[in-house]
Amino acid sequence: PSMLSPSDNKPKFTKKRIGLLTSGGDSSGMNAAVRSIVRVAISRGCEAYAIYEGYEGLVQGGDMIKKFSWSDVRGYLSIGGTLIRTARCQSFREHKGRLEAAYNLIKNGIDALIVCGGDGTLTGADTLRSEWSDLTKELIQTGKLTAEEVVPHANLTIVGIVCSIDNDMAKTDITIGAVTSLHRICEAVDSISSTAFSHSRAFVIEVMGRHCGWLALMAAISTGADYVFIPERPPEANKWKKEMLESLERPIKCDDIKKLLLDAKIDTRVTTLGHIQRGGRPCVYDRNLGVEAVEAVLRATPDTPSPMISVRENKIMSEPLMEAVELTHQVTEAIAEKNFRRAMELRDPEFAQGFNSYLSTAYMKNKASLQQNHSLRIGIIHIGAPAGGMNAATRAAVRVAINHGHKPIAIYNGFSGLLQENVHELNWLDVDDWSSKGGSELGTNKAEADNLGLIAYQLQKQGINALLLIGGFEAYTSLIKLNNARDNYPAFCIPMVCIPATISNNVPGTEFSLGCDTSLNAIVDSCDAIKQSASASRRRVFVVEVQGGHCGYLAVMSGLAVGATNIYAPEYGLSLETLQEDVNHLIRRFGADKKSTSSGRLFLRNESVSSTYTTNVIANIIKTEGKGLFDSRTSILGHIQQGGAPSPMDRIRAKKFAVECVSFLEKHAKFSGSSGNSKYPKVYTKDKESAAVIGITGAQVVCTPVIDLQSDTDFECRKSKKAWWLNVKPLVELLSKWGYSDSEP
Ligand code: ATP
Repeated sequence: PSMLSPSDNKPKFTKKRIGLLTSGGDSSGMNAAVRSIVRVAISRGCEAYAIYEGYEGLVQGGDMIKKFSWSDVRGYLSIGGTLIRTARCQSFREHKGRLEAAYNLIKNGIDALIVCGGDGTLTGADTLRSEWSDLTKELIQTGKLTAEEVVPHANLTIVGIVCSIDNDMAKTDITIGAVTSLHRICEAVDSISSTAFSHSRAFVIEVMGRHCGWLALMAAISTGADYVFIPERPPEANKWKKEMLESLERPIKCDDIKKLLLDAKIDTRVTTLGHIQRGGRPCVYDRNLGVEAVEAVLRATPDTPSPMISVRENKIMSEPLMEAVELTHQVTEAIAEKNFRRAMELRDPEFAQGFNSYLSTAYMKNKASLQQNHSLRIGIIHIGAPAGGMNAATRAAVRVAINHGHKPIAIYNGFSGLLQENVHELNWLDVDDWSSKGGSELGTNKAEADNLGLIAYQLQKQGINALLLIGGFEAYTSLIKLNNARDNYPAFCIPMVCIPATISNNVPGTEFSLGCDTSLNAIVDSCDAIKQSASASRRRVFVVEVQGGHCGYLAVMSGLAVGATNIYAPEYGLSLETLQEDVNHLIRRFGADKKSTSSGRLFLRNESVSSTYTTNVIANIIKTEGKGLFDSRTSILGHIQQGGAPSPMDRIRAKKFAVECVSFLEKHAKFSGSSGNSKYPKVYTKDKESAAVIGITGAQVVCTPVIDLQSDTDFECRKSKKAWWLNVKPLVELLSKWGYSDSEP
């Protein structure tokens, strides 16, 4: 998520004692949230109390409520589940239990509670707050507490963080744990797909999600499933064989589908993925929330409704907690009443869009939707280094194009392939298993569009009258060159659109390029392993070099997800002074740790940050200045960072981009009859809007004319001048260093 405001300009606050608990079903990322809450709380002058086993610990009190220090949450980032444990607590649903909870909060001096869980957890917390005044009166009347003890606790502040693999909460685009769960599902389905393919066998896979189809739908999009069943949109009865009719009256079970398929003589197996979906190591996305919760505690007043931390349009915000819970319940009710249209409306708009885009590539239509004479020959070309999602985008573009009556033309091996006439039409099944494939099935290289005359000749010869470029900065600059040469070459006067696909995330016009999420996850996987090794060796510091060219995105965002001590990236510069400060920090930190119990440290260095302070030089400085107190190692991650199979997020973004790109090409294709002696229909446009880069800003997918992006481009450093993630670095430092500064309370 983009998010994460720097800690300056925050409202004034009084010191608070903040309790935090995880409750309901566990989800990956709960630990990361606990770590952020504890560390931000301490850094903001508050105290953090972990309440074990959710409301059970709150009702029982005693040892179940424990003050947490900075180091108590060390190592939490990479661990799935919840280390402070969770429980379902019946007694908290009753008055007696909540009275005990109020007593324990006051006895421990806790005046704010951050709860991480699902709608039940959030409802429970809100009930406690609404009853607070009555509960405290009762505690005085029954003599359990004195009025003096209660007076300082006249109000209870509640903040909710939604942790759920189901992503079923209204008013937030995502819940903590859902994306990790999607990772697990995709890993499992990718593995099953290979056996399905080997035996020509159908697999019916049951995934979690309760009343919410998000996991099933996103997994279907990510893995290229042939059919998806979600509660919000059950299949239409008339599309199904008679045997299915019965099962439509009740929740559809995997066995029902299996029976149908077997009756159709399709060899079928059922797999229920079960609890592997719950977690394991959290993916990058699920590690970054939680910071805002403490700020929400500090902002809260007795009159404001309890907030829930949400992610909307890629920004972290807060929403009234009970409004979100009520809206969530309305969806469940709509589904129970079989009012599926309403259920779909109540989900966020992206959900319905996702469903439609899934449909547009899942089934081949009998009849294409366009008139024949408006059919395009869409050239698809990969340019630059491979990035996760290139193939998924190509698959989606090919299938939507075919369903719309166009011809998708693969240009193999970039522009050099075009010049060698390495060009073939792709059909529906050619791209069948491309969703989960890493690398570039078309072949890609860094050659930009240089031989413009020859490129124009070949485009014309192949009858390509719309062009989809998928790639990184080279794809972007190629599009600029083609666009600038439109006056000289009519072959470039066709709609052209570029899908940014590069791990560096440096292309202007988008907050996220395809491949950057895959790469972040690959980096964080490696860094988790490196950090473990550094911790096992004690007193070891790793300097890890990551790619990104002159763009620090990968270094910064992986630094946040892995808990790096500092990040060296071009946007912030690197000086001797910074290195000196970091060495001083390490001396303080390792010096204070007499028993050598603490974990290893990690610095992330972007490959282009400085030609003087290379990875080796930094590591040597650290080692020399450590004077035996700590040593150092380097790790240069190299091409591992391109990742293997693309992450679910990249697959979903790929599909979104590709579907939009085909619409874009259609919209900007102006047909002008046949072109002289050519057998292909002629398209001619020089509108500036007809050569664009597609991208994500907030939750919107936007196409920006390439001409308009040039002022946002730093051509020398080959990156966008805009970087939404710049303010993340101070946060990384706060979360990993602050507690060891001289000012630790
Ligand atoms: P998940 O989505 O994983 O089910 P959840 O938070 O919705 O998470 P629940 O079991 O519904 O899980 O709720 C967790 C706990 O919150 C319950 O065990 C109970 O202690 C408390 N709780 C839930 N609903 C209420 C309520 N209406 N009043 C008081 N406490 C509640």
